[in-house]
Amino acid sequence: MATDYYELLGLTREATEGEIKKAYRKKALEFHPDKNPGDTDAERKFKEAAEAYDVLSDADKRARYDRYGHAGLRDMGGARGFDNVEDIFSVFGDLFGGGGGGGGGSIFESMFASSGGGTRARGENLRAEIVLSLEDVVDEAQRTLEIKRFETCSKCSGEGCKPGSSPQRCQTCGGVGQVQQSRGFFAIRTTCPSCRGVGEVIDDPCDSCSGEGRRPASKEIEVRIPAGVENGTRMRVSGEGNVPQRGGGAAGDLYLDIRMKEHEFFERVEDDVICEVPISYAQAALGSTIEVPSLRGKVDVSVPQGTQSGEMLRLKKQGLPNLNGYPQGDQLVRVVVEVPKKLSDEQAALITQLAEIEDTQVGTKRHSFFERLKRYFE
Ligand SMILES: [Zn+2]
Ligand SMILES: [Zn+2]
Repeated sequence: MATDYYELLGLTREATEGEIKKAYRKKALEFHPDKNPGDTDAERKFKEAAEAYDVLSDADKRARYDRYGHAGLRDMGGARGFDNVEDIFSVFGDLFGGGGGGGGGSIFESMFASSGGGTRARGENLRAEIVLSLEDVVDEAQRTLEIKRFETCSKCSGEGCKPGSSPQRCQTCGGVGQVQQSRGFFAIRTTCPSCRGVGEVIDDPCDSCSGEGRRPASKEIEVRIPAGVENGTRMRVSGEGNVPQRGGGAAGDLYLDIRMKEHEFFERVEDDVICEVPISYAQAALGSTIEVPSLRGKVDVSVPQGTQSGEMLRLKKQGLPNLNGYPQGDQLVRVVVEVPKKLSDEQAALITQLAEIEDTQVGTKRHSFFERLKRYFE
């Protein structure tokens, strides 16, 4: 990882120990795997934040990092990379709870589950698939998708209670949203089971959403797909996932998986597209202009005199745009000389005539082949 550790945690170089701890905690909560199930991007950020914290929370490592950057850590065996989420729990678990020890992971996790600490459960992320053709991604594409998701209940405005009634303070936790439990030597706080951390309970639930504050709905959303996307690309549409249950935080995100359709003519190789076009022997030998499909309609391509079967002709910038701003790809036309399977009498007569001439005037390739054949039998 080469990203700046301070930048990663949103800190300045003057950050105090306390600020570093606080910043890491915030990132860890945001990207916690339990909150972002199946989201590999969040998992990576979760690991990166742990690595940054590991360095910046250690005075020795931090001093070296400040002076020499990432290179300075190499002499100390490098920054500790975290391949495994469990490792992070076992190393930093005590940061969030009591005194470390065996139960570090669970203390850590229960901290995340609590909402009293300022983190409220987000709505779930959703996934959808978009199938596109190569032509679709030549330019930025716009699509309207119909998404089934949870939206705020309109009857109770997400409050969860019947119009005219209001939520009551939770008796179990006194409205704090957390309860304290002792586990061994430590007193740990967990999410209140009665109100799920909201701090309020509903005696008279809204009959439209049964008190959840949200209802399943079908929603059309517009998405823009950048030109040049590839098969398997995953796009995140922020905030277009489910709204959370009553008392929750932000809405989840919508993840779009891009799937590219097979193309009738084109094969894609990175940003280039390749197509195969049959030409006749006469076209190859004499040269000609042929009509070729391109991603932007038909184009005329000139086949030079003496083109060999299998030769590639390059049409500059007729491929796909590059997502990262590199030059646009090309189109490659592989010309294949076709041998006719059926001949009219006239064709047969002409080709026979051609053959008679070629007996005395063989081409270079054939010539050397016959030479080699002669030597072989000698
Ligand atoms: Zn409702
Ligand atoms: Zn409660």
